[in-house]
Amino acid sequence: MLWHGNRSCNSGWIYPSEGEGMGIRKPVIGIPVNVLVEKSGAFPGLERAFVNQDYLKSVQRAGGMPVALAIATEGEDLLAQLSFLDGLLFQGGADLSPLSYGEEPGRGLEDVYPDMDDHQIALARVAWELGLPMLGICRGMQVLNVAFGGTLHQDLGGLPGDILQHVQKSQRHAISHTVDLEEGGRLNQLFGRTTLGTNSFHHQAVKDLAPGFRVNARARDGVIEGFERIDHSFVLGVQWHPEAMVEKHPPMLGLFRELVDACQPERVKTA
Ligand code: MN
Repeated sequence: MLWHGNRSCNSGWIYPSEGEGMGIRKPVIGIPVNVLVEKSGAFPGLERAFVNQDYLKSVQRAGGMPVALAIATEGEDLLAQLSFLDGLLFQGGADLSPLSYGEEPGRGLEDVYPDMDDHQIALARVAWELGLPMLGICRGMQVLNVAFGGTLHQDLGGLPGDILQHVQKSQRHAISHTVDLEEGGRLNQLFGRTTLGTNSFHHQAVKDLAPGFRVNARARDGVIEGFERIDHSFVLGVQWHPEAMVEKHPPMLGLFRELVDACQPERVKTA
């Protein structure tokens, strides 16, 4: 018996009673960590690895089991991570190094963490070989695009023409701009509509689309807000932050449900 008489936590409810829940296996969704270097406070320069709480909660609410993946630079460690995963979620975060897609840094580029880029790009490529479902959010979508041969706008603010505000000043859950969903695309099917209100917290975006992908969502200024694989395997990217919207806009949880549901049933055995 695993929880031998241990009822000492505050509520007690978290501990299953004997036999209950044993053998439950939920789809395991790996979320590669982001790096945060403390700039002030008691430990300037301290490097932390993190996953934003909203992603963990959203995956749990969608029926999956999220696990944070440490940055791995050895192929062996990468394969070890993939060996126990059923799917991957690439979270939002810092800019990708433009060297990862063959460009030099422009003046609008912000902090980059090349080790983090390398880990996530390699994970995406190998996961693709293994057929694992993948959802990329914001930076995560950009990681998928670069991993499969696409490029990025380094700074939307530096582009000519009428570019909308894509780094909103309002609260994270607040709808900021309209997104048009391509008819017949995965997002159109999921939300059952052709326009969607989303939040927006990005100054980069997909420039040249990776081969094998198609755009399924755009903002009114033409900025790519969503894409998917054309071969129907589950590789989906969105440029907005659904994890920050699920509380106030419950349909956004559907994106996480799609990811969890796409995990192959034969790999996920529920007792
Ligand atoms: Mn946007």
